[in-house]
Amino acid sequence: MRTTVGIIGAGPAGLLLARLLHNAGIDSVVLESRDRAYVEQRQRAGILEQGTVDVLRAAGAGERMDREGLRHDGIELRFARRRHRVDFPALTGGRSVMVYAQTEVCKDLIALQLKEGGPLLFGAEALAVEGADTDSPRVRFRREGREEVLECAYVVGCDGSYGVARRAIPEELTRVYERTYPFGWLGILADVPPSHDELVYARHERGFALLSMRSPVVSRLYLQVPAETDAAAWSDGEIWDELERRFETADDWRLERGPITAKSVTPMRSHVHEPMRYGRLFLAGDAAHIVPPTGAKGLNLAVGDVVTFARALAHQAATGSDDLLDAYSPTCLRRVWQAERFSYEMTAMLHRAPGATPFEDRIQLARLERLASSRAAEQDLAEAYTGFLLE
Ligand SMILES: Cc1cc2nc3c(=O)[nH]c(=O)nc-3n(C[C@H](O)[C@H](O)[C@H](O)COP(=O)(O)OP(=O)(O)OC[C@H]3O[C@@H](n4cnc5c(N)ncnc54)[C@H](O)[C@@H]3O)c2cc1C
Repeated sequence: MRTTVGIIGAGPAGLLLARLLHNAGIDSVVLESRDRAYVEQRQRAGILEQGTVDVLRAAGAGERMDREGLRHDGIELRFARRRHRVDFPALTGGRSVMVYAQTEVCKDLIALQLKEGGPLLFGAEALAVEGADTDSPRVRFRREGREEVLECAYVVGCDGSYGVARRAIPEELTRVYERTYPFGWLGILADVPPSHDELVYARHERGFALLSMRSPVVSRLYLQVPAETDAAAWSDGEIWDELERRFETADDWRLERGPITAKSVTPMRSHVHEPMRYGRLFLAGDAAHIVPPTGAKGLNLAVGDVVTFARALAHQAATGSDDLLDAYSPTCLRRVWQAERFSYEMTAMLHRAPGATPFEDRIQLARLERLASSRAAEQDLAEAYTGFLLE
């Protein structure tokens, strides 16, 4: 098999990249180790920045998102039983975000790819990228028990945080920056209309909680729990009781309960792999960087990377110049580090670290007070939350 761009992984990064290349007249093959149902059901992110929404629309993948997605013009910060709304359009000159689940983004992109794009092979597990530093890199992969080779002009590793692509970059050229947090998020899906029409980020002395939604009838809620927590150790009743405690307000706001349909624990990690390119191998999305989910940046960063790559390759095809491909890694990393910083700061402001001192508690509250009383502080949060504009 031979193609211009071999794409490893059919998460949001790989699927969107295939679509952008198709629209630019560049052929690609996507290799995905799992089956279609698995990729379409995997519960993950749900907040699309303004830039991501614009990219999906321009790529012809925004029709259902515009019909079914929920535009959100703000979030609520909750602390000391108080509520403070951050108004995005007023603070950012009109920007907002869209609540539309990653599962739905993937379904839309898979349907488009199968209808009019290049090959998208499910059950095709990449084993290794070879010859990344030559003009003809290859992906060795296994499908239906047989080993095959995909010959490419370029390979893009969109294979997530445990993928194989980045192993092809020599260790001596690699720098990894990492932080593991001593807590995770216990996330639930519940068949109940959201108790608030915007996301609620709650800082509480018992730990962080987040109220979000997948649709007008499905709520997505999270509780900060110690790292290594087993989701099954929490009964449904215990989860609702704890959510109620952490979202408590001084007014008459109430949390609606409903049947819990899914329960899982997400670990929290910050991780950046530099550089994001080696020869003709490029890394995109979680393959190169992970953020804790507090800033809702993971999926959006993946989109930023593949837009940058697709533009660079289209430029190369049109002009013969490698300039933008050469700039790929530093261009992406500038955005990545801003998202890392924001995600880290949101996490630090809202979560209770084990062993936090009374002094640290007061500092957290002072940060939140500052946000609630200073337009400049609020504007900084609103700009970062709605997205770092693509260069
Ligand atoms: C449990 C969880 C919850 C999350 N929640 C949030 C959230 O609430 N908000 C938020 O913003 N972000 C969240 N994220 C992060 C966000 O979902 C990711 O940033 C996003 O999925 C990145 O997309 P990606 O395409 O780079 O990687 P992925 O979505 O991980 O896709 C990688 C794909 O590559 C495939 N693959 C892996 N290895 C191989 C191989 N060897 N050969 C072929 N295919 C391979 C995988 O099966 C997968 O389909 C969450 C992540 C996780 C893991």
